[in-house]
Amino acid sequence: MKYLSITFLLFISSFIYSQNTYIHCGKLIDTNKGKVLQEMTVIITDNKISAIENGYRKPESADDLLIDLKNKTVLPGLIDMHVHLELQMSPSRYLDKFTMNAADIAFGSVQYASATLLAGFTTVRDLGGSGVNISLRDAINEGKIDGPRIITSGKSLATTGGHADPTNGYRNDLMGDPGPKEGVVNGVEDAKKAVRQRYKNGADMIKITATGGVLSVAKNGQNPQFTLEEITAICETAKDYDMHVAAHAHGDEGMQRAILGGVKTIEHGTLMSERTMDLMIERDVYYVPTITAGKEVSDKAKIKGFYPEIIVPKALEIGPQIQITFEKAYKKGVKIAFGTDAGVFPHGLNAKEFGYMVEVGMSEMKAIQSATITNAEVLKNNNIGEISVGKFADIIAVDNDPTEDIKTLENVTFVMKNGVVYKD
Ligand SMILES: [Zn+2]
Repeated sequence: MKYLSITFLLFISSFIYSQNTYIHCGKLIDTNKGKVLQEMTVIITDNKISAIENGYRKPESADDLLIDLKNKTVLPGLIDMHVHLELQMSPSRYLDKFTMNAADIAFGSVQYASATLLAGFTTVRDLGGSGVNISLRDAINEGKIDGPRIITSGKSLATTGGHADPTNGYRNDLMGDPGPKEGVVNGVEDAKKAVRQRYKNGADMIKITATGGVLSVAKNGQNPQFTLEEITAICETAKDYDMHVAAHAHGDEGMQRAILGGVKTIEHGTLMSERTMDLMIERDVYYVPTITAGKEVSDKAKIKGFYPEIIVPKALEIGPQIQITFEKAYKKGVKIAFGTDAGVFPHGLNAKEFGYMVEVGMSEMKAIQSATITNAEVLKNNNIGEISVGKFADIIAVDNDPTEDIKTLENVTFVMKNGVVYKD
């Protein structure tokens, strides 16, 4: 009722006045400068931040809205570079492929998108699903449902039998021979075609599975699965469409090929060598660690029957390693782009990643910056990642100061996206 009446008032007043929203912020995190400011007012006009003032400024007109966050810490909406909004892992996941229709996936994804937004993540990169994630992005952009801003890869690209081959583990007569249209490529021509097909389908970017993975029904979780030529063809074709490429990779050889081939981000990066870290620094490639997913798969692998048997040893080996690799890579100077692989664990718990980052030596402020300005940089989006004049009004708040208590980010109490309040 409260929201209804506010919406109604906004609607009426928009005919007469240009209405502003004033947010009084007890503390305000300047992610650009890496500073915590005290007693500030952020003024929002339409969907953008129009002014930031010292002290608590009173609204100029009686029609302006005032939001009191004087006992909160305010920061820009968070950005997660690695989620899967179409799914949430459960023991039935491997059967779901045979029982769920696209509409079932879509209804589930509506819930996951909402949980993500309410957890303070106002922008996410969806790194692979069936393609429903493209319709999900559009439905959110059109205001039909609530969710974060989505940059999506549509369906991930794999080679035959690779991590994202959609018929992995199927009975022979069901396996078929998926090709570029289904996101399976073998050779340079297939690679180009698969990228163009993603463009045609409405993807914003490309995801490849450069090595084996933990959760696919396949023996090896780290072997290289593309040739350098195939990856180069994918990255060069993607560039024609202004798309960047993200590479899932656990093994070092596949990771190196991905970097040399021209990808923008390495996902998981589990068995990354020092040489690969140097190569990432040299080529300006970002590391998206997904420590939370690593912890989750090794925990769940201990529950009998949660995953198919073939997955268990991979989960136990790869899962715990990610946080160790993150620590080494961060300390060596590899750029860290915050990302979680939400969907492998329940959506909405994305902020657990911050605690794991800080636990092994990243400062709280640096962790927050990786989920804001760094990710905006990867996405080449100037409108997000900081609270400053001209940016989108993507604003969240927490009860405590996260630069002193990082866990407070797990309980976001206020969410505004594009000037609209979703949680108060
Ligand atoms: Zn993933």
